[in-house]
Amino acid sequence: MPLPEKALIDQIRRMAKPVSRPTHTGVLTGIGDDCAVLRLLPGQESLVTTDFSLEGIHFRCDWHPPDSVGHRCLARGLSDIAAMGGKPVAAFLSLALPRDLPQAWVRQFVLGLVRLAKKFGVTLAGGDTAESPDGILADIIVVGTAPKGKSVLRSGARAGDRIFVSGELGGSAAAIAQLRSKSKKKVSPGDFPRHFYPEPRIALGRALRAKGLASAMIDTSDGLSTDLAHLCEESGVGAEVDAELIPRARVGKPVREVDRDLALHGGEDYELLFTARPGKRIPSQIAGVSLTQIGQITRSRKIFVRTRSALKYELKPRGWEHFRA
Ligand code: ADP
Ligand code: MG
Repeated sequence: MPLPEKALIDQIRRMAKPVSRPTHTGVLTGIGDDCAVLRLLPGQESLVTTDFSLEGIHFRCDWHPPDSVGHRCLARGLSDIAAMGGKPVAAFLSLALPRDLPQAWVRQFVLGLVRLAKKFGVTLAGGDTAESPDGILADIIVVGTAPKGKSVLRSGARAGDRIFVSGELGGSAAAIAQLRSKSKKKVSPGDFPRHFYPEPRIALGRALRAKGLASAMIDTSDGLSTDLAHLCEESGVGAEVDAELIPRARVGKPVREVDRDLALHGGEDYELLFTARPGKRIPSQIAGVSLTQIGQITRSRKIFVRTRSALKYELKPRGWEHFRA
């Protein structure tokens, strides 16, 4: 088995260490953020992100309608552009499909993907298609732009910054919990929209960047505990989070607030997690999305959670990781 995902990426990162300076190579930010930041044109930065959607790992044909799989495939990439405060421009789709897959499935998949692309003014501009020996594999590349020097990186947080999250957390993981449960209760996409048709927070990310409100940012694709750890690691800081302040999703039928653990560790909500310098006033909502302060950045390099019982415990990343031991 390969190394656990994070250790593997760290190893590849060390092996791929650039030999000369960013201004020379044109790669301003490489491995380690939501997107790579490239200098291709004067006056602006180009953002590039790539994400797999794999049958049996990211979706299941008996759980997810094909248009939801297409929608979620592109949403993963768009959300990474949002996390940089960027504007998405074009997408590239590499597809490997098994021989016995019905064409109707493929058509609905592409419909779901291009519907979301259209909504965000993104053009599907290329890709690759091949036969898969086993299972559906889709890789999405999204390219976007940001003004020169303005992309919001994971590495900008400092001790004393406040931590905010958009929307609500745990709603996507709640759908998976329901699908996995033995209750056989029907899981309808309408009751779990954040799981089946997540809306990438492009307008919010761009507004935070344009107003200079966010000092660091990441999207919550793996789960709050894991994504906050990524942000803290890249910034060389720690954090203290108040568990009671984390906005928990209200989903399902009947509608019910998700458990705290799902909000802390459940992934694929595609909300934005960002930090703001002391003194920056953060509105309670931007672009129709609520913003909640959940804690602050500390010097310690560790992440702690405070609960109502006033007990403080160290928060270990328990979100999604491939090849976890
Ligand atoms: P995200 O969840 O935002 O898509 P990931 O956790 O997948 O980010 O990746 C973290 C960083 O590692 C990103 O900069 C990504 O481009 C990089 N990365 C992941 N896998 C590889 C790989 N196989 N080779 C090179 N870089 C990689
Ligand atoms: Mg990301």
